[in-house]
Amino acid sequence: MRTRELNRWLGRLTHLTPHQREQVKAHLQDMAGRDAVSELLEERAAPTHCPTCQGKHLVRHGQADGLQRFKCRGCGITFNGLTGTPLARLRHRQKWLAQAKVLEDGLSVRMAAARLGVHRTTAFRWRHRFLTVPRTVMDRHQAGVVEADEMYFLRSFKGQPRRLHAATARLARRRGGHATKRGLSDEQVPVLVVRNRAGQTADFGLPSANKAGLLAVLPEAVTGDAVLCTDGSAMLAAAARQLGLEHHGLNTLRGERRRGAWHIQNVNAYHSRFKGWLQRFRGVATSYLPNYLGWYRALDRNAQTGAQTASLLALAIAV
Ligand SMILES: [Zn+2]
Repeated sequence: MRTRELNRWLGRLTHLTPHQREQVKAHLQDMAGRDAVSELLEERAAPTHCPTCQGKHLVRHGQADGLQRFKCRGCGITFNGLTGTPLARLRHRQKWLAQAKVLEDGLSVRMAAARLGVHRTTAFRWRHRFLTVPRTVMDRHQAGVVEADEMYFLRSFKGQPRRLHAATARLARRRGGHATKRGLSDEQVPVLVVRNRAGQTADFGLPSANKAGLLAVLPEAVTGDAVLCTDGSAMLAAAARQLGLEHHGLNTLRGERRRGAWHIQNVNAYHSRFKGWLQRFRGVATSYLPNYLGWYRALDRNAQTGAQTASLLALAIAV
């Protein structure tokens, strides 16, 4: 638009009613949000291979919907940086950055819906779509001094049909006949959290709250030469012994909190921060627990690196 034309156009803004002005403002904000998202995508999501045939011979193929389009010379399909990501078919791109901010601020679904101007079911769907990637991102195979501890969560069927509650509860009770350790019941979901002294964090839902469960996850959690610090749990000690890991168990039952360099204060502090943060959601369904764990890991990593909202958006599309 020419400057003179623009000035005439701007002059006419004075004829708008307050309500229309708000509409224009909202429209401009939407456009800015959309541009910000597109920019981030262009910057970070330059595809290196075809999502269909994995071919590497890609050419730029115009723009579509505000995004650079690519064409694969191998199979001929066209795609953009979002193709194949959890956000590929999500609408209202102008609100995605705001959605990332919602995650950063840890808003409840109700508050998120109000801030984003969407229905609560949409806010809920977006939350979990944005958490598809974060739930998988964690610091596996940790080295150095690694503090390990178990967290327990009450099993919850929140948001699921009542008949499913009853059926699953029956199943849980039947299973509860065997596997009980340290006063654990099937009402609780065990999660092993490991955090090394560099602040790297990972967590693993345990298939069972016993040594076998720990043996299933520990090789993925730590490297063979890691030094494991625990609260002295016999299960963890037995699993560490079997894997040949150096292990220092504190006698926490006797009040021992530290022995030289050995303590679990980092992982314990992480527990309390996570549980404190989780309270705002008033109980989460067990099936969604990995999403919340991944969400909090992302916030924790961002806090360490000083990263902001944009990294949560980038993480949602795995770039
Ligand atoms: Zn292809």
